[in-house]
Amino acid sequence: MVLPCDYHMHTPLCLHATGEPSDYAAYAVKIGLNAIGFSDHSPMAKDGFDDWRMRLDQLDEYVGSVIKARKDHPSLIVKLGLEVDYIPGHEDWIKHLRSLHPWDYFIGSVHYVSDVWDLDNPKKLSEWKTRDAYDVWKIYFERLTKAAGSGLFETIAHADLPKKFNFVGCPSLSDQMRMLRAKSLPILTRRSGLPVVAVMQISAHSTKGPDPHCRSGDPTNQKLPAHHDIQPFRQ
Ligand SMILES: [Zn+2]
Ligand SMILES: [Zn+2]
Repeated sequence: MVLPCDYHMHTPLCLHATGEPSDYAAYAVKIGLNAIGFSDHSPMAKDGFDDWRMRLDQLDEYVGSVIKARKDHPSLIVKLGLEVDYIPGHEDWIKHLRSLHPWDYFIGSVHYVSDVWDLDNPKKLSEWKTRDAYDVWKIYFERLTKAAGSGLFETIAHADLPKKFNFVGCPSLSDQMRMLRAKSLPILTRRSGLPVVAVMQISAHSTKGPDPHCRSGDPTNQKLPAHHDIQPFRQ
């Protein structure tokens, strides 16, 4: 079986991943991947926004560590990316980030459904109990759809993130997926509990919703709506 490449990987700089990019690359070569990509959580304009992303002054270090992985493993394609939070009002910052390095791709992701609540943060689990789950899912998809149409990202991450703590409140998930697919962006998501490489593809051309079959592909090429994620901790 040809394993799919993985373009959604973090580094220790986000404080919830372990292993240097070169270590990941060595393992990717060992298990027969032909490409990987790093997409650690991007810094915010102001440090201290939360505790699960690199500081701005660590961005060069991050890029350097990915370039090192590329040099250490010349037989492997190693792409340089970022997972960038889409929060309305942050567009200029995201454009600025793009100008700082020769990125291969940006993954647009939504964790924040308000300026202060990252809904997958276990430390803020109690916030779910004060909210109507349907409203939360609705805001999530509105933001994700906006991100997909913003032109700021090559792909979109984990469209199913609000299900993390089992607060399911969206009766029209398939409709929302259709809206996202209409934006013609591949969607990155994950299957919990799979330790190495997991791919859940949501086809840009299907109306059936998530496709559970593993496939390889390049999510940075918008014509190939493939997707996956291996990070064991935060998405
Ligand atoms: Zn994420
Ligand atoms: Zn992630």
